Amino acid sequence: MAKKKYKNKKPSQRWKKYRLEGLKLIKSPSCPKCGEGTFLALNKDRAYCGRCHYVEYKK
Ligand SMILES: [Zn+2]
Repeated sequence: MAKKKYKNKKPSQRWKKYRLEGLKLIKSPSCPKCGEGTFLALNKDRAYCGRCHYVEYKK
């Protein structure tokens, strides 16, 4: 495995948070039952909708 070296130095905390939240949103699938806008909570091996209790297992 090759080491990844980041060219940019440490980003400010504010931006770090922003990027993390952005990733979370992108990674989170929306609930097929509740529709877009309702995101599933991601667990280790499944995604869970707190609204309709729909569970989607990761492959
Ligand atoms: Zn749902």
